[in-house]
Amino acid sequence: MIDMLRKINLSRAMRTTQELFPEEYDFYPRSWILPEEYQQFSTQIRMVKENDATVNPTFIVKPDGGSQGDGIYLIRDPSDLKLMAGSQAKQGVVQEYIHKPLLIDKLKFDIRLYVLIKSLEPLEIYIAKEGLTRFCTEPYQEPSQKNLSHVFMHLTNYSLNVHSGNFIHSDSQNTGSKRTLSSVLYRLAAKGVDIKRVWSDIIALVIKTVIAVVPELRVYYQAEIPPGKPGPTCFQILGFDILLMKNLKPILLEVNSNPSMRIEHEKEVSPGVFEYVPSPVDEDVKVGVIRDTLRLMDPGLKKPSVSQLKAGGFEHKEEISVEGEKQEKSLEEGVLPSLCLKQVYPKYSKQFNCLRLVERIASLFIRFLGVKGNMRLGPTAFRTFFRTCKLSNSNFTMASVDILYIDITRRWSGTISDSREAGMGLQAFVEAFFFLAGRRFKSLVLREQVVSLLELCEAQLESQPGGEDRRSVSCSRALPRAVKTQTLGLANPQLSSPAPQRRAASQDYRLHQRLKPRMLRANVEN
Ligand code: ADP
Repeated sequence: MIDMLRKINLSRAMRTTQELFPEEYDFYPRSWILPEEYQQFSTQIRMVKENDATVNPTFIVKPDGGSQGDGIYLIRDPSDLKLMAGSQAKQGVVQEYIHKPLLIDKLKFDIRLYVLIKSLEPLEIYIAKEGLTRFCTEPYQEPSQKNLSHVFMHLTNYSLNVHSGNFIHSDSQNTGSKRTLSSVLYRLAAKGVDIKRVWSDIIALVIKTVIAVVPELRVYYQAEIPPGKPGPTCFQILGFDILLMKNLKPILLEVNSNPSMRIEHEKEVSPGVFEYVPSPVDEDVKVGVIRDTLRLMDPGLKKPSVSQLKAGGFEHKEEISVEGEKQEKSLEEGVLPSLCLKQVYPKYSKQFNCLRLVERIASLFIRFLGVKGNMRLGPTAFRTFFRTCKLSNSNFTMASVDILYIDITRRWSGTISDSREAGMGLQAFVEAFFFLAGRRFKSLVLREQVVSLLELCEAQLESQPGGEDRRSVSCSRALPRAVKTQTLGLANPQLSSPAPQRRAASQDYRLHQRLKPRMLRANVEN
């Protein structure tokens, strides 16, 4: 999980799903991976500025493994990027800066939401009904050359702002530099904001993000778990960092694989002397998350009665529910009552299942990985995939398959920091899959191309002995009803993310060039 949620890997996973479902995944800011996409970033920004001199977007640069705001800075021009050459090159992402955040008391703030992944297969996600909000300590102004370095104005990290003279420690939930999410939502509700809608958008963001990272997680997971045996009962609490835009659209900033569960804060008790003192706001949020996680995960525990719950000090707080949702049943079947963590998946699986396309590609990938512990596909396994799924023919011969394999793996091996293991990783396989889908079903949009190719492969596999059990995720073609289309509202639409370009590039392989004379004759599969 730690690996998967590093900034580069998260950005890659989000980008893949953005390619398939651009409107569903518009909550993740456009990001470029450094150093490999520096040229692309730089060219795009130059073009945007040339087209419209009044456009002057800001970007935020984040080191790959960074946390707590370390090494983060804002830039307005690609030449301000602190890139180093060769092996010194800093790995990270440069991301569109959301310049119109929602402000409270003139301050920028972000939301920390705790999410429990109870199990990967089947996927079970719980969201804590209560979260934290972390406030900046200097009034917000839209970025300008003058204020770019004002971290207390632009970065909401507690670890940074606590060192500003303006940080307010407060025992109350609704004042100070760290507040509960519910206190902020109630305040917004008092101003007429439809907080149910905000909350349901946040839930959708969380589910979609988990759906984006699950395929790669499943590859890691199968490498650790012996085939045919039940996996260990493991779980993970994640910290989602979410920013609300002025128009109330939630934006995902990052996902923390190891969020702090501290319930104390550092306080300067006399000049220069710091002490850890209890933090009621942290306690209010985090104790519930840990308590409910243990209760949900412990298979030995019996369902406690309501009186037991009360005796244990469990108060039933006012619920923030999803739009149109009824009060949750106090006891879900076979599961302990959850007072703070609320199940959102599979509860809302109908709305979101059709976004799980990459996971179906991952299922194919895992099936052909073969040997336990492997995370990369070798050339022979790639060929076997083509043969088994009957994907090669006179128009795409096995020789073309080999060239495709070499071209894609070579390109990806340069981009992956840990390339000790040779072969084709999931991301590279997904790219090959998109490429093939595009060739076969030219007239369709990418999502439909991919669905069509998946159906073809899955049908071939199902027709084989023992095939039916292999298919893990069924998916309707319909788009989720409840998911509303919103746009990020970025100043300039020309500032497109590198994703389509990467795909364009992938469809423009040297391979493509080499095979051109034969391939251009006809596309018989269409
Ligand atoms: P870290 O892991 O170092 O905390 P984050 O990605 O959470 O890195 O970024 C740190 C802070 O920077 C966030 O808490 C938020 O206040 C601000 N921030 C991050 N990304 C953006 C963005 N795209 N637009 C606006 N502000 C951002």
